Amino acid sequence: MELKKLLETRYSVYEHSVHKLQGATFALVRGSKGRRLFLSEPLSGFSGEALAEGGLLCPLTVENAFALEHVFSWLSPQRILEEEASFGFGDRLGLATPGHIRALSSAAVFPILVQQSVRENARTDRTFEEVLAQGIFGAFQEGYEAGFGADADHLKRIGDALHAADLGYTLFTCDPGDYVVAAERLSLQEAQRQFALLPEADDFRREYLGRTFEIDGIGSLAFSEEELIRAAVKYGNAVDFADKLYHALTVRLPQGFDYEVSVDETETPTTPLEHLFVAHELRRRGVDFVSLAPRFVGAMEKGVDWRGDLEAFRRELRAHAAIARAVGSYRLSLHSGSDKFTLYPFLAKETRGLWHVKTAGTSYLIALEVAAHRAPVLFREIAQFSMEQFAKDRASYHISADPSLIPSLEGLSDDELPKIIEEHNGRQVLHVAFGSVLRSHLGNKLRLVLDKWEEEHYEGLAQHLGRHLDGLEVRNGG
Ligand SMILES: [Zn+2]
Repeated sequence: MELKKLLETRYSVYEHSVHKLQGATFALVRGSKGRRLFLSEPLSGFSGEALAEGGLLCPLTVENAFALEHVFSWLSPQRILEEEASFGFGDRLGLATPGHIRALSSAAVFPILVQQSVRENARTDRTFEEVLAQGIFGAFQEGYEAGFGADADHLKRIGDALHAADLGYTLFTCDPGDYVVAAERLSLQEAQRQFALLPEADDFRREYLGRTFEIDGIGSLAFSEEELIRAAVKYGNAVDFADKLYHALTVRLPQGFDYEVSVDETETPTTPLEHLFVAHELRRRGVDFVSLAPRFVGAMEKGVDWRGDLEAFRRELRAHAAIARAVGSYRLSLHSGSDKFTLYPFLAKETRGLWHVKTAGTSYLIALEVAAHRAPVLFREIAQFSMEQFAKDRASYHISADPSLIPSLEGLSDDELPKIIEEHNGRQVLHVAFGSVLRSHLGNKLRLVLDKWEEEHYEGLAQHLGRHLDGLEVRNGG
């Protein structure tokens, strides 16, 4: 009773987080110093400030998150449910998970609530540990017991994958992009020369030449010698790396894990025939993957809708989906999923519901919307800084923004600031600067604003990500 009173007078309690176990009460609370984990009695594994009235007030550290996960198994990341589509809710600030959970509102989709790439972590000075801990606290805050996955995204090194495996990540996204060669740009002679250097060159000839692959829905596919040579030069070494990374993980995680292979960040699109080569090679080497991210046609740019020839996209998507079903019912993965509203209905339909979508930048932009409404001075600083950083930050991202086309900040009243986020160029410039902003003094200021306007932030996320899920047709009633 005294504890209840204490909580009521000095802290506000996140009501969905209140859980009792073996006589102890656990809750996430908010006091003058922000969010804390409250325990009604000290328990081993947790560290914090002992309260005079009894109980323990724990900061939201990695250690306390892992201790909490140990107590409540629904906070441990889980593997993707086979029969459901899956959706990645990347969170670059570590504050978005409650909003992401609200976006779900009984959607028929398996959520990956923890999803950051090695590159995102480097840009935001975060670790796989911190990202996972923030997801765990977010799920606890909302009392979300339905299960979620954790994606160690865009892995380019085996050591990073094994580290994430040790922490409890469940989905490992292999990015062999560094090994992909733009073989379609080589002369045939040069392609032949590189093909001959591949250790499996003879193997490839035996496996593919003169063979027909029956693909239900699109007919039969066969490789000409030149097509095989170019596909193998383009993706042969990439497949080798994906194979190595996978088998390193099987040793570390004999109980199983989810594996994705993504070549989405390469220069040229993946043709259906190349997709067939990659998927068939992975299967042949015993790589059991749950999803594959080809590089789709058209402008798959960060943070904005897709642009390109929609009929061509649809035709290719249909072929990719048919191949995925024929080679072994894995899901097609759409990265840079943020705001690809045009594509969602096609993705849902052509894959017959077996898709994975990854987003992250769009949630950061929702955070900036809160700043634009509630802290216009800070938002102006962030926008100005993002423009200054653009030349540097745009590297390694697919974007087309021209900062000179962004409406001038001086010319806009505070009420008009959200225009910068809505407009194509501004949206991309803000989007790619997330790392520079979050690492600077502006990052902490932004976090304070989001903390203060917490509910507004969550509701903005719930609405916007909810629109994504509606586009993908997995929420009833919207
Ligand atoms: Zn990607």
